[in-house]
Amino acid sequence: MKLMIPDHIRAISPYVPGKPLEELEREYGIRDSIKLASNENPLGPSPRALEAIGRGLSSLHRYPDGAGHDLIQKIARVNDLAPENVVIGNGSDDIIAMLVQALIRPGNRVVVPQPSFLMYDIAATAAGAVVDRVPLDGLGMDLEAMADRVTDDTRLIFVCNPNNPTGTVITRTAFDNFMARLPNHVVVVVDEAYIEFAKNADCLKTGIPADLTRPLVTLRTFSKAYGLAGLRVGYGIMPAELAGMLHRVRQPFNVNSLAQAAALAALDDRDFLLRSIRLVHDGLERLYAELDRLGLVYFKTESNFFLIDVGQPADELFEKMLRQGVIVRSMRSYGYPHYIRINVGLEEENRRFVQALETVLNL
Ligand SMILES: *Cc1c(COP(=O)(O)O)cnc(C)c1O
Repeated sequence: MKLMIPDHIRAISPYVPGKPLEELEREYGIRDSIKLASNENPLGPSPRALEAIGRGLSSLHRYPDGAGHDLIQKIARVNDLAPENVVIGNGSDDIIAMLVQALIRPGNRVVVPQPSFLMYDIAATAAGAVVDRVPLDGLGMDLEAMADRVTDDTRLIFVCNPNNPTGTVITRTAFDNFMARLPNHVVVVVDEAYIEFAKNADCLKTGIPADLTRPLVTLRTFSKAYGLAGLRVGYGIMPAELAGMLHRVRQPFNVNSLAQAAALAALDDRDFLLRSIRLVHDGLERLYAELDRLGLVYFKTESNFFLIDVGQPADELFEKMLRQGVIVRSMRSYGYPHYIRINVGLEEENRRFVQALETVLNL
């Protein structure tokens, strides 16, 4: 076999997801472990979503609604938009892929923050784009430096708000100044995967009300606050003209029928959403207090996860924590060799995390 693979594809480092709990338990011979590594919702899925999935099972022999009619109508209603402004995807990852497919030809440029969500870089590189990586300023996004990098060849800029993995947010004022500097041909994508958790009153929220006069895309997901990561549903809010271009490259049945039904029901489950948010806010307060007690350095977040400086190689700490049955994420590959990232878990899980950390760090 002699595969003829373009160099830009060979050069991609595949995305390395947090391993599933079952796999780690098998590998390390441990049981009853807890996972705080992938920013998932510790409450599980919304009960209403589960009911909807149950009702949808008997129709699995049918194709899903390729137009996603009911879900798109509902998302439009909730966000005060027209349905023409909404595109649904197999996770928001899918919308990212559609955006680069529709907008990028090889040699075009894409500006991304670094470190941030790796899929922007991977998707753009796969499409043959030249990726301009702009370092964060401290832990926050450096919008000025990102705008400085724009050229005639720039087609897309990705902004992550709150940023994964640092948990920082962009203010409305900073974003408006940034947008004012950009030429009209550049599409700005604001990824709001964790926006439901943001508390800062000055935090930019592009989805409400959406600005559809500018080339701006807001990404939202059901994977985090709604607890449906395994089903894969996300959506993009954007000007209708751009949505039309995404529909040209979209796979006709990209969101499966159970995912559509569950997402629709989850949008009605206000109670679950509020419980999820409260759990995160309460959990953060407790975790901060415990880390203060241990004298550890950490970085306050606007999201459901945050960074902790463990003062030693994070990869080694990851292994030691694993042996205590606690799965965290080492930030080495993100450029923070001494930081771990954890998401807020259930009260009991947070307690176990702190105990394990005390043991491992001999505190
Ligand atoms: C988890 C996450 C998403 C969600 O991706 P899905 O494909 O919708 O599951 C998007 N962006 C960021 C920054 C994330 O951390």
